[in-house]
Amino acid sequence: MKLSSILSVAVFSCVFGIGLLRSDAQDAKKSDERPNIVFIFSDDHALNAISAYGGRLAGTAPTPHIDQLAKEGAIFNNSFCANSICGPSRANILSGKHSHKNGFMRNSEGKGFDQSQWTFVKDMGKSGYQSAVIGKWHLMTDPTGFDYWEILPGQGNYYNPDFIQMDGSRKREHGYVTDITTDKALKWLDGRDKEKPFLLMCQYKAPHRTFSPALRHLNLFDGVNIPEPDSLFDNYENRSGELPKNEMEIDRHFWWVYDLKIRKEEMDGAKLTGTMGPPIEYKRMDAEQKKVWDAHYGPLNKEFIKDFKGGKLSDKDVVRWKYQRYMKNYLGTVKSVDECVGRVTKYLEKNGLSKNTIVIYSSDQGFYLGEHGWYDKRWMFEESFKMPFVIKWPGVIKPGSRPDAMIQNIDYAPTFMEMAGLKSPADVQGLSLVPVLKGEKKDLRDIVYYSYYELGVHRVPQHFGVRTKRYKLFYIPDTKEWQMFDLEKDPQEMRSIYGDESYKEVQEDLVRRYHQIRKDVEAPSYEAHAARRKRK
Ligand code: CA
Repeated sequence: MKLSSILSVAVFSCVFGIGLLRSDAQDAKKSDERPNIVFIFSDDHALNAISAYGGRLAGTAPTPHIDQLAKEGAIFNNSFCANSICGPSRANILSGKHSHKNGFMRNSEGKGFDQSQWTFVKDMGKSGYQSAVIGKWHLMTDPTGFDYWEILPGQGNYYNPDFIQMDGSRKREHGYVTDITTDKALKWLDGRDKEKPFLLMCQYKAPHRTFSPALRHLNLFDGVNIPEPDSLFDNYENRSGELPKNEMEIDRHFWWVYDLKIRKEEMDGAKLTGTMGPPIEYKRMDAEQKKVWDAHYGPLNKEFIKDFKGGKLSDKDVVRWKYQRYMKNYLGTVKSVDECVGRVTKYLEKNGLSKNTIVIYSSDQGFYLGEHGWYDKRWMFEESFKMPFVIKWPGVIKPGSRPDAMIQNIDYAPTFMEMAGLKSPADVQGLSLVPVLKGEKKDLRDIVYYSYYELGVHRVPQHFGVRTKRYKLFYIPDTKEWQMFDLEKDPQEMRSIYGDESYKEVQEDLVRRYHQIRKDVEAPSYEAHAARRKRK
C-alpha cells in the first residue's frame, strides 16, 4: 500500500470513526456515508448574470434555482479563477494547481491536459467514490479516473450536439445541449451503485459563444430592455495602450452571422462591416427547428436591416442593438442552465439524496457582458477574473451565507478531497475551503495570483497579477507595463493608479508581494513562455 493510500485511509477512519481497516469489506462499503458531491459547472457565466450576486442584471438574469442554492447555502463574493480561459480553468480545478504547474497553460496547448498527473477525481475514486463527468470537457485528452464519462468534442454545439463516448465513438443527440447533458447526468445517477458515495461533474457548454438559447426560450426577453453597463463605450483612456488594440469588442468584433444570428439571406444587401462567421448552429438544426428559429429572428432581423439600410441607426445605435441581441441570447442560454440546476436539485430531493449531497454551482471564469465594450474574458479585470461559486452543504454551511474569503479555482480539488475525508498531496497549491464552509475561518489568504498565457488570441497580451481585497496589480511583459487599480474607489477599473504618488506605499507593497507570490508558486520566467508571444 502506498503511503498516500495509508494516509488517506487513516484520515478517513479518523474523520468518520469507522473501521475501514477491518476485513469485512461489505460492511465497510455499506457504512460509507461520506457526502456525495454534485459539481454543476457552466462555461463563461458571469456573476452579473446571476441574480443572487445582485449585479447590474439582477432584475433580468433568469436564475431562480441558482439563487435558491445560494439561499440554502453560501455564495462567495470573492471567487476568482487562476487563468481566465476555458481549458486552463478546468485544468486548475482538476489539479489544484496553477497553469504552469499542471502544464495546461492555454487552450491551444499542443498535447492537451497531461492525464498522468494527480487529480482529486483519481484519489476519490480509489477511496470508494464512483464518479462521472458529462458535458463540456475541453482538455483535448480523454478524462481519466472517472467511472463514466460522456463529453462534448471541443466547444460542443448547442443544437443536436455530438457526445464522445468512452469507446471513442461519437453519438449525435436530437435536442438542446443543456437539456441533454442533464438527461445524461440524471440517467447516470439512476444507474449508479447506490451503496457508494458519488461525485458527479455536470458541465454545461452554455452560456459560451455562440450564445444560442433553447428554441423554447427564444422569446424570453421580447420587449425587454436589458440594462447597459456604464462602460459600454469605454475609450480605454488612463490604462494600458494594449486595451484599444483588443479584438473582443461588441462594436468591431462581433460576427454578424455566428454571434448576432442574422443569416446572409436576410441581409438584403446591407453593408454590414466586419466578420460574418459561419452559421454553425443554424446548419445543425432540422427543418422543424429552423422554422422556430426563423419565426423568432426573422422579423427582428428584417426590422434591423430595414432601419440600418434606411440610415436610421447611428454607430452607437448599432452597438446598442448588438448589445441587446447579445444579452438576450446569452441570458436565454442561462435560463436553460438554471432550469437544469432545478432539475438536478429536484432529483436529489425526490430520491432522498439532498441531505447528504453537496451541490456546487460554478463556471470556468466570468465574462464581459458589454463592460469596457467587450464580450469574452482573458483580461484580469473583475468581470472575467471572478467566477461564480455557490455551494449548498446541508447541516454544515449556514444557509444564506455570503463569505468574503478570497477563493480560487485551484481550491476546489483540496476542498473536495477534505469533503471526502482525504488528504491532498503536498504539491497541491490550492487551499481547502472546508474551514470557511464550516464557519471556523473567515479568510484563507489575503492575496491571489493570476496568470494568462495565451498567445495573442483576441489580441490580449500575456499578463500576470495579484489581487488583494482592495487592490489589483498586474504586469504585461510584452510592453513592460504595470497596471494597478483601487477597487474600492474605482470598481469599474477605469483608471490605472500605477505611478500615482498618493499610492506610492501601496504600490511598493503590492509589487513586492507580486514578486514574492511568483516565487512562492514557482512561476516560470516571462521568457520561458514568450517564444511565440510576439504579436502582429
Ligand atoms: Ca469558458
